Amino acid sequence: MEMKTNILLIYTGGTIGMVKDYETGALKAFNFEELVNNIPELNQLDCKIEGLSFENPIDSSNMNPGYWSDIAGMIEENYNAYDGFVVLHGSDTMSYSASALSFMLEHLAKPVIFTGSQLPIGDLRTDAKENLITSIQIAALRKRGKPVVQEVGLYFEYKLYRANRTTKINAEHFEAFASLNHPPLVESGVHLKVHHSYLLKGPAKTKSLQVHKTMDNNVAVLKMFPGLNKEVLTSVLSIPNLKALVLETYGAGNAPMDEWFLDGLKNAVKKGLHIINVTQCSGGAVAMGHYETSEQLKEMQLVNGKDITTEAAVAKAMYLLGSKVSGKLFKTIFETSLRGEMV
Ligand code: ASP
Repeated sequence: MEMKTNILLIYTGGTIGMVKDYETGALKAFNFEELVNNIPELNQLDCKIEGLSFENPIDSSNMNPGYWSDIAGMIEENYNAYDGFVVLHGSDTMSYSASALSFMLEHLAKPVIFTGSQLPIGDLRTDAKENLITSIQIAALRKRGKPVVQEVGLYFEYKLYRANRTTKINAEHFEAFASLNHPPLVESGVHLKVHHSYLLKGPAKTKSLQVHKTMDNNVAVLKMFPGLNKEVLTSVLSIPNLKALVLETYGAGNAPMDEWFLDGLKNAVKKGLHIINVTQCSGGAVAMGHYETSEQLKEMQLVNGKDITTEAAVAKAMYLLGSKVSGKLFKTIFETSLRGEMV
């Protein structure tokens, strides 16, 4: 007889975990222990589901790298006992957390699926049930005895995406996430359609999971806009201990050619600040040198963020700084795809 797949649900908080108190009409935190009682559909799934919860579930706007290490730790401690993991998380910062976990979990050979919902699980029109049930089904998918998904994914509204390729694009629609630079990995319709060629291959058999829990948050994001003035740039560049700056440039990585701007960046790079050029467009990539307005950025050795999302760039910078990657290697490693987060 084939063994049932074991899935661990990790509840961190967010809208998904709320139910309506029908007497008062208020939304309140769900008793996670009673999850299966409240969603009887879970009993019909052909897998064994167990749950762990944050002691005090949070709105994901309160998420931080400390909580990321808690999630990583929960996965590490339970890695051998379960076949797959589903992380329930608020949608607001889900792309950041899921990107961070993708870096923290090196040589991951099992599915870690982040999901959440726009409406609480106790709401009549909720999107939570479909998101949760299908996430569990995807986490349980196996082919020739091996998990189909061997990476960190984000499932929302009928699509599984590579987590570190996603961005929250809508505060209201059920289709709240997009992954413009990488196609969906799995699509849910009448059948679950797995796009095998888009999935990460999984680590070599000899590699076992390595969990990196130290993230260094001496990182800032600066979004370019016409009119950004010298005082703003100077203040950002003089933040004490700042080690990496994610610079959201225009289009294919372009920025103004004012001398004060370029000199400011050049001096900061010389002093050892890693400046990562990412585009503020939702799709497409940085191509430094393509326009005159990015030639000097290339010359001064800004890190090329290529087609990475800002969310993944922030997480990757914190991960590399936390791993104490040397100043010299930072640019080379950042420009290399580690978990399928860039081309
Ligand atoms: N504010 C909530 C959160 O991110 C929204 C959600 O759960 O979708 O925790």
